[in-house]
Amino acid sequence: MNMTLLEERWRGVLDNMAEAVKRAGRREGSVRLVAVSKFHPASDIAELCRLGQKDFGENYIQEARAKQEELAGLDIRWHAIGPVQTNKARDVAGHFSLLHTLDRVDLARALVRRLPEGASQDVLIQVNVGEEPQKSGVLPAALPPLFDALLSGGLISTEGPGIRVRGLMCLPPRCGEGEEARPYFVMLRRLRDDMEKRFGLSLPELSMGMSGDYREAVAEGATLIRVGTDIFGPRPVKGQTL
Ligand SMILES: *Cc1c(COP(=O)(O)O)cnc(C)c1O
Repeated sequence: MNMTLLEERWRGVLDNMAEAVKRAGRREGSVRLVAVSKFHPASDIAELCRLGQKDFGENYIQEARAKQEELAGLDIRWHAIGPVQTNKARDVAGHFSLLHTLDRVDLARALVRRLPEGASQDVLIQVNVGEEPQKSGVLPAALPPLFDALLSGGLISTEGPGIRVRGLMCLPPRCGEGEEARPYFVMLRRLRDDMEKRFGLSLPELSMGMSGDYREAVAEGATLIRVGTDIFGPRPVKGQTL
């Protein structure tokens, strides 16, 4: 039986991921692959879902919601991994398995307001580890005050209904590939450890690593890697800028 190119690439990434997990001496199954399907058709998602891939990441809320509707019968965990405008909170709250990009108090407030009574929304805090002006995410130095504001304002918790913070996410500078991103992955892990200690929280998830550097991210403790190109191939032109 012939594998499609899509299946072949996907299996290749899973193999590389498993190998990196082993090499790092980490537990099998401790890292989840989020297949980043932005700009790729719903039919590709359906094909991978049938093969057992359950986590899919999308950057644009409108595109994600349209795909959710189209694939409503499938057992998929949707991840929102792009910046979210506050006025889109309604389309996020309660509609994604995990939002990776919470980075400010006003977005948290909007999510709380839009979340149905008794529902919960898991989130990660995005950190702008490279301090790049064009990127979203909270600056490393502003992370403790953000946690403080979110916790003292009753906007997030780690359990119960409401906005539940599960960890941190980063999108390091694309100064190169692989090894060049590693110091940023280390930084994110340390920031996570620091926030756990300071605020007495459990923050198990680290979302870091993309096509060019997911092996290094796994070595540094990623629990979620976000891989697009290595699975789906190059994106159509408009998708090549992040
Ligand atoms: C597009 C995107 C990815 C996937 O990038 P690839 O290099 O195609 O693997 C991962 N994370 C975020 C936030 C993205 O926007």
